[in-house]
Amino acid sequence: MSRGDFSKKIITWYLEHQRDLPWRRARDPYLIWLSEVILQQTRVAQGLPYFERFVKEFPNVRALANAPLEKVLRAWQGLGYYSRARNLHRCAQVIRDEHKGQFPQTYHQLVTLPGIGSYTAAAISSIAFDEPHAVVDGNVFRVLARVYGLDHDIASLAGKKKFEQKANQLIDRSQPGTFNQAVMEFGALHCTPKSPDCDSCIFNKGCFARKHEAQTVLPVKIKKVKVRSRQFHYYAFRVGTKLAMKPRTEKDIWHGLYDFFLIEGKRNGVNNKAFSKLKLKGTEVGKKLTLKHQLTHQLITAQFRVLDLPNKKTTDASLKALGLKLYSRKQLVNLPKPVLISRFLAESGILD
Ligand code: SF4
Repeated sequence: MSRGDFSKKIITWYLEHQRDLPWRRARDPYLIWLSEVILQQTRVAQGLPYFERFVKEFPNVRALANAPLEKVLRAWQGLGYYSRARNLHRCAQVIRDEHKGQFPQTYHQLVTLPGIGSYTAAAISSIAFDEPHAVVDGNVFRVLARVYGLDHDIASLAGKKKFEQKANQLIDRSQPGTFNQAVMEFGALHCTPKSPDCDSCIFNKGCFARKHEAQTVLPVKIKKVKVRSRQFHYYAFRVGTKLAMKPRTEKDIWHGLYDFFLIEGKRNGVNNKAFSKLKLKGTEVGKKLTLKHQLTHQLITAQFRVLDLPNKKTTDASLKALGLKLYSRKQLVNLPKPVLISRFLAESGILD
């Protein structure tokens, strides 16, 4: 199928079938950026409330830049990959401080910003500023692989490059933003992973996958994700109705979010005076609770214990030595936390 045919068909389809989404109503680079970053984490239906919350709390790039990081992490809570939220915040500050609060308008300037890779730079520069840079995401891989019979491995760098080349050859230079959105939308709504609607498809005559019944094998994805197993032992120290928590400062998952005192791996291997003191003074409440939590590359098995501690100065000193601080129920609700911790709080009934 020729480049012109592909682009004409898919844009005509898009103009008729596109969903009415808030970031499509104006060509505002801030809204496009937010939506793209959120949609890298989740589907439209799940991402929409997050988008709306962000726009309400941080209506423009300056508001986001000026907000405390904890507020941004709190708004992001539940989406995972918290480094993306930290990058959003950092990027907003760079735009405020180095670009006078205005989004750079070119792809090449955009890719220099923190957290903005080629995908997001292509989306912003094409949709907001009409630059002809093709966006290549999972939907685009699928549509191009099936229509043109491209069998490069989409998990490999070389494969991704081939798809990028193809998308950049096909892009409609007079309306690149519409073209990019059309391909993504077509993949999301029509040429879906499991049930592509081939019978009523605009490409059905020229589509390689349909002709060769290859819809289930295209696109090709070879690389398998290795999953690492981790054992977490959480100690939730409680004084009265307050719980002791700390921000995670290590270079690890959930950086900047709050959790309890944690021992990873073998519990017996811990040699920490403050912890031993607290453990001796504590009264274990209820049974320990075990929760499993799956992340993309990690499976966490977490065991939670709740220990009641006496309300004494020495308790405060030991908690402080472990980097912990006591939070009331109200404060705790507003702290940014990993979903695993929120699940524990809900399932243990500790706050009831
Ligand atoms: S014919 Fe089927 S596989 Fe080909 S583009 Fe259309 S929906 Fe996708």
